[in-house]
Amino acid sequence: MDRDTAENRLYELWGEITDLEAAEQLLEWDQETHMPAGAQAGRGKTLATLAGLKHRLLSAPELREALAACEEAAEPGSALAAQVRWARRDVDRAVKVPETLERELAEAKSRALAVWIEARRDSDFERFVPEIERLVELRRQEAAAIDPGAPAYDVLLDLFEPGSSEAGLVPLFEELRRELGPLVRAVAESGVEIDESPALGHFPEPAQKCLGLEIAAEIGFDFESGRLDLAPHPFCVGIAQGDVRLTWRYQDDDFRPALFGILHEMGHGLYEQGLPGEWRRTPAGRAMSLGIHESQSRMWENLVGRSRGFWQWALPRFQAAFPGEAERTVEALWPALHTVKPSPIRVEADEATYNLHVLVRFELERALFAGQLQPAELGAAWDDLYQEVLGIRPGDAAEGVLQDVHWAHGVFGYFPTYTLGNLMSAQLYAAAERDLGDLDAAFARGEFAPLLGWLREKIHHPAGFQEPDELIERASGKSLDTADLLAHLRRTAEAVYPLVV
Ligand code: ZN
Repeated sequence: MDRDTAENRLYELWGEITDLEAAEQLLEWDQETHMPAGAQAGRGKTLATLAGLKHRLLSAPELREALAACEEAAEPGSALAAQVRWARRDVDRAVKVPETLERELAEAKSRALAVWIEARRDSDFERFVPEIERLVELRRQEAAAIDPGAPAYDVLLDLFEPGSSEAGLVPLFEELRRELGPLVRAVAESGVEIDESPALGHFPEPAQKCLGLEIAAEIGFDFESGRLDLAPHPFCVGIAQGDVRLTWRYQDDDFRPALFGILHEMGHGLYEQGLPGEWRRTPAGRAMSLGIHESQSRMWENLVGRSRGFWQWALPRFQAAFPGEAERTVEALWPALHTVKPSPIRVEADEATYNLHVLVRFELERALFAGQLQPAELGAAWDDLYQEVLGIRPGDAAEGVLQDVHWAHGVFGYFPTYTLGNLMSAQLYAAAERDLGDLDAAFARGEFAPLLGWLREKIHHPAGFQEPDELIERASGKSLDTADLLAHLRRTAEAVYPLVV
């Protein structure tokens, strides 16, 4: 097979895989938004069939042949080399993990999820222990099947963040702990309470939705190629070229969960809309790193959406949306968007404490996969680590070790990507500001296009044609570190708690 034939064949076959994935994602989106409850079992069967078909396509001899020929022909560093690297990753995984193990995992996950829902409701960790024991064991087997020579936790980390490893993450988390621990403690011990009343009030759902849609559209999200729907948990899914779905949820008495949730998912969505359309159905045309993905959502949510400049622009729109809540100034509102307060629940955590929540999970997962901690000991270890790192003790298991769904889904090694995303967002934002000048002043004038254009060029268009660490280094001029995030958090805390930190 000559090079052109092999390359065309690879893209043709990959296009079919991409289309199957699009169908899977559309059904999953529907399941979370519009599907009637009675459709659960039927939908499960449909999704299992699609998963089986995808596995068959990924392990098909004609794909492996085309891929091998492309590997032969690809010059190091070329676009084709990036294509074959990502294709090889998915194909190997499909071929190396035995189908029996895949099935055992799928069954263990669905049982664990059902048990977790009840265990969390009753705050009964004991009941969940056999499930998590089984899942850790199966994930160990899966990691060994993918790469028998590597530590299991490294294999799992690499599934979510290509190129990441425990050894690479440890120093980042250690620095965050060393720097953020004292900051968070100083604020907590000072007893200074920020007045959060400017964030509270009465916010009818239709007005919250209108405001979210208006702001997202003005920033640059294309609603001709996307939409926003209510769901129990906010998420974003890029289904296909021209079809990016965002979801949101709201609270009547606090506008923050809806608005910042929409900005977060919009950030994911802008990335999906910015991927190179002509490569959308090829292995490298996708978003490959969860860290990079999260850096986009965190940037719009936190660095843009909580900035003074953004609120100078957004406040008149906010006041028009909620005429009954019009008496607000940026100066009164801004501190309420930046409170620092240790609390037990990760998804409700502020910007400064958030990464400490992730650190707890990273430490526990490391210990689990190193065999230093047994699943049965997780509950107590969780509480002790919260005490040590955040200075608080969860009231019960529901508020502690059972709060996140990830482990019930059998997902280990995912949490660190949240912190990687935060670190990347701050580093990219600092680099964009060096290139573009005062971004806060631009936001105050409603100018978001320069930042979006910069992200399109540096992050969205390269898609999978550059490795995640290469993307960060090219865009920001250095490899990933904690300096920019720590500087941002310290600057903000000093402004909100002037006499404390
Ligand atoms: Zn996200």
